Amino acid sequence: MKQTMPIDGKFELMIYSYSPDELAPAISAETIGYHHGKHLLTYVNNLNAMLPGSPQEGKSLEEIVLNAQGGMLNNAGQILNHNMYFEQFRAPVENNVPTGRLALVIDHDFGSFEAFKEAFVKAGATLFGSGWVWLSANAEGKLVITQEPNAANPIQKGLRPLLTMDVWEHAYYLDYQNRRPDHLNALWQIIDWDVVAARYDEV
Ligand code: MN
Repeated sequence: MKQTMPIDGKFELMIYSYSPDELAPAISAETIGYHHGKHLLTYVNNLNAMLPGSPQEGKSLEEIVLNAQGGMLNNAGQILNHNMYFEQFRAPVENNVPTGRLALVIDHDFGSFEAFKEAFVKAGATLFGSGWVWLSANAEGKLVITQEPNAANPIQKGLRPLLTMDVWEHAYYLDYQNRRPDHLNALWQIIDWDVVAARYDEV
């Protein structure tokens, strides 16, 4: 996976490629504003404040996630998770389906795209508390769905992360309140499968 390097010792708030009102009704502009502009920004500021003089100073975000502990690991993990999350969306598309080699592998490993979506939403809906549901590839290229608690990322298990849904309440509560499965199902319309397929094809 591509390494995210600090610039002049600091990580920057990622910039997404859509406008904040384009993802509704899956995600409202208000939720994007808080989620990206407040929650993610806080993780970025927290990590940047911890780096000077630490063993992780100058390391990539991915290296920090693999080697740090405690608050540094939690903030770095949340930046990596949110960067991948906000990068993978685009304006809603009807009949939005995977592209490229990834589409074939999803059919092979899960039986069908519909079966994959059902298993993925079930994993997200049943994750207790805060965390993330992920689609990743293992070392053999086989696809796996994992539930990761809090700030964890599949790279900590040696997996290559491809797609994620955030099930922390801050990701959906303004728009969907307690209806987490409805929010997760709505996200399928806004997944940019070209981004996800590129992550799969990346060596
Ligand atoms: Mn979040």
